[in-house]
Amino acid sequence: MAQRMILSVEDVHQYFGRFAALSGVSLQVPEGRLTALIGPNGAGKTTLYNVVSGRYRPTSGKVIFQGRDVTGLPAHRLCAMGLGRSFQITNVFSQLTVLENVLVPLVIKGGGAFCFWRPLKRDRALEQTAMKVLAMVGLAEKAHVGVHQLPYGDKRLVEIAIALAPAPRMVLLDEPTAGMNPEETEHMIQLIKSLAETSGTTFFITEHDMKVVFSVADYIYVLHQGTLLAQGTPEEIRADQRVKEAYLGG
Ligand code: ADP
Repeated sequence: MAQRMILSVEDVHQYFGRFAALSGVSLQVPEGRLTALIGPNGAGKTTLYNVVSGRYRPTSGKVIFQGRDVTGLPAHRLCAMGLGRSFQITNVFSQLTVLENVLVPLVIKGGGAFCFWRPLKRDRALEQTAMKVLAMVGLAEKAHVGVHQLPYGDKRLVEIAIALAPAPRMVLLDEPTAGMNPEETEHMIQLIKSLAETSGTTFFITEHDMKVVFSVADYIYVLHQGTLLAQGTPEEIRADQRVKEAYLGG
């Protein structure tokens, strides 16, 4: 089955001083699917995520996005090329409303400047786009609520909405259920599943919660000590003895 790869990581090494956080990692993310990157603490997931999203230029190796070598390109260039990423909760403007937060990436994408001390200029078309995204994540009714007033789970949904607003071709989500209670986690799982099926966006997520990974991912890569330990479908990874040992030992 020929699948188009939207992202390829080719033999990436990342050193911090003499320490190799990534030692020759290669992986591929097929277009339109949900691929997960898992591994015990310290495996190198965040480092790889930072390499792919343009925060780090790898010591060696390549990142290919939509057929173009994007190794070391800054995050804003990758964003303009259709690579979205979720922002940490601390990057969400908590004094703005939910709608205003989702408008920020749309205004920036449209070439406009954004000043956080000045109310966003009203733009009907952008507001409609933002409202559609809020409806997708189930926050439409809270559009005019200040983000600081939201419960934790809803704040994480705002992060997803911000990442999806510019209609990226691929979105990186870093531990989307981290810190959530069981109810919020279940809601997030259902949301990610339906977004992956209906939005046409490719999802590449890092996640430590195995329950989440096994229920949402089409394909899983397992990192361990900076190298790829295993890859496969959820069923294959669930049955993999090396993965069990890495998690027990990790
Ligand atoms: P994970 O996200 O899988 O928990 P990380 O990518 O955060 O793993 O870290 C992988 C390894 O690289 C860890 O041993 C960590 O201590 C080390 N590391 C990560 N970032 C840095 C850094 N900026 N400087 C030095 N060591 C780092």
